[in-house]
Amino acid sequence: MGPSRFARLAPPMTLTVVGSIAFDAVETPSGSRDRLLGGSAVHFSLASSQFAQTRIVGPVGDDFGDDEYRILHARGVLTDDVEHVPGGKTFFWAGRYHRDINQRDTLQTDLNVFEDFQPKLSPASRDAEVLFLGNIQPDLQREVREQCRAARFVAMDSMNLWIDIAHEALVQTIGLVDCLVLNDAELEQLTDEPNLIRAARKALDLGPRVVIAKQGEYGSAMITRDGYFGLTAYPTADIVEPTGAGDTFAGGLMGYLAAQGGPIDDATLRRAMAYGTACASFNVEGFGSERLYALERAEIDARVAELEAISRF
Ligand code: AMP
Repeated sequence: MGPSRFARLAPPMTLTVVGSIAFDAVETPSGSRDRLLGGSAVHFSLASSQFAQTRIVGPVGDDFGDDEYRILHARGVLTDDVEHVPGGKTFFWAGRYHRDINQRDTLQTDLNVFEDFQPKLSPASRDAEVLFLGNIQPDLQREVREQCRAARFVAMDSMNLWIDIAHEALVQTIGLVDCLVLNDAELEQLTDEPNLIRAARKALDLGPRVVIAKQGEYGSAMITRDGYFGLTAYPTADIVEPTGAGDTFAGGLMGYLAAQGGPIDDATLRRAMAYGTACASFNVEGFGSERLYALERAEIDARVAELEAISRF
């Protein structure tokens, strides 16, 4: 019998994520929560740790305690590089969703411990072969990128805020990564180009070899210099709220890539997008990342198999 296509070609790669670690307050027309564990690095790592051991880097304040660590540790996330700032308060974000749950308003963003954050990675985090620069100020993303000299595949996210107020720094950081993961509106804003394909090509000209456009409930698209791949979202009707869906998508994607260990070619990236898509579909089925806390790998695999039946990858 030949090797299964799930067979690993090489040992798994080590994975580090830097990004926000947050408390989020979320309002929807059907309910609200005033203190959810959130932040780009948290949503990411709760998904990526399904596939590969993940080290999380970012600062927290005195309000971040055992309950929060317990959630991360239950998934095997390594928190040695979570920096506790004595006297500080954890990053806080509040948002309100509309009846159309794809529409939201940001009500509050308190950077708190992020204001003076200087990333200092331990040797283990620095040695990561796969690195994800989650959504934070782009200069901080770049400082982490520069510390991780062993990285073989680096991807990053960002958001409209940094496109607006730190455009130059963002463009510099994009020049240092292999893969840019943004939602379609952000890509268009970054490049000042309303057509997604042209926007993605302009983003490729900044340096990355892969651009992945997240399109919310419509799925995602991968654009490289030689091709295009589009993947539908997993068709769930059980939507609660989508905070962190993009980070969860990135976590499934990068976790899968790290677990494969082998060359990161187009076929592997397409399958990785399916894993990201499946993880994100669970994320939207609860407040924050709650649905991921006790999620089993078999549940993710089942959704990837369903996706495979409706899309080719
Ligand atoms: P998303 O729904 O993909 O935009 O991700 C929402 C998550 O990003 C929340 O958990 C927030 O804590 C976090 N977040 C929101 N604004 C920022 C920001 N300016 N910098 C870093 N993280 C943020």
